[in-house]
Amino acid sequence: EAKNLGAGYLRVYDHFFGENVHSRLQLTADLKKAIETEALSVAYQPQFDAATLEITGVEALLRWQHPEHGPISPDTFIALAEQQGLIGSITDFVCRKALEELKQTGLLGKKIPRLSVNVSAHDFDDDDSIDRFRSRFEFVDDWSVLQLELTETAAINNFENTLAVLSSLQKAKINISIDDFGTGYSSLSVLRKLPIDEVKIDRSFIHDIPSNEDDRTIVRTILAMAHSLQLRVIGEGVECKAQAEFLRKHGCHELQGYLLASPMPITELDDFCNSGQTHLKSMLATN
Ligand code: C2E
Ligand code: MG
Ligand code: MG
Ligand code: MG
Repeated sequence: EAKNLGAGYLRVYDHFFGENVHSRLQLTADLKKAIETEALSVAYQPQFDAATLEITGVEALLRWQHPEHGPISPDTFIALAEQQGLIGSITDFVCRKALEELKQTGLLGKKIPRLSVNVSAHDFDDDDSIDRFRSRFEFVDDWSVLQLELTETAAINNFENTLAVLSSLQKAKINISIDDFGTGYSSLSVLRKLPIDEVKIDRSFIHDIPSNEDDRTIVRTILAMAHSLQLRVIGEGVECKAQAEFLRKHGCHELQGYLLASPMPITELDDFCNSGQTHLKSMLATN
């Protein structure tokens, strides 16, 4: 998405810290320290099969509780990490932490079939990108439980490198998802050269589904296109029943959003999985 790139980066960032260069440097130092001291944490947002409402996976989302500024949005600190060359360490961190925590619960590959991790264009920049991913997932026996989410802009801006890395990883059975799909103006003919398993419809198209005919058309079109390319589709940012029902009706395979479950700490994930999602099943019961 545009906010991950140069000009957009400043927009998001300046909204938080203004033009204060000192606080930028300070925040960069704070972020480095947070990575080193493991002051970051991971929240897990479940994803669901649209038809059965069973859990299909969780998305790992980083959280940073800054000692003075309180919680800082990942949109802010990921952009900073990208600009300051820290994204590799961030990706190392989130992969290691999520795999450790999920391993302790024993949920991964069982009640939670898949772990999805967000990656950045910069994760594909270096000559050792493939090796670095391999070492992140070294202790995972079956890579089909893993999924990488990257935005279409990230994929397109660094196409040759991204293609090489993703192709190599997918041979080892990792899943690839294109995040925020529809926001990047990229042609599908370019995107489909990548070994993609899933597209994630951006939440900006989901948001106005109940009222906006154009958005309904866009979503139906994405679904039709993905169906014919045999790609899995997940709708993100599902906040109300009408959105969920529309997506189910038009053959969206999976759903994610506050309506179904918000991102939660690892300590709540086990209970959530054991609840059997009965309340969701009755709320979204079909006749
Ligand atoms: P994303 O990957 O598109 O993640 C979805 C964002 O939507 C998350 O925001 C999530 O908390 C939020 N969300 C989930 N359900 C709903 C809903 O129903 N309504 C609305 N309005 N929002 C919903 P979050 O956690 O603030 O993350 C923002 C972005 O930061 C992510 O967007 C992703 O691009 C990036 N990010 C987060 N964690 C990581 C990470 O570990 N690595 C990298 N590279 N990027 C990350
Ligand atoms: Mg994502
Ligand atoms: Mg997204
Ligand atoms: Mg996003």
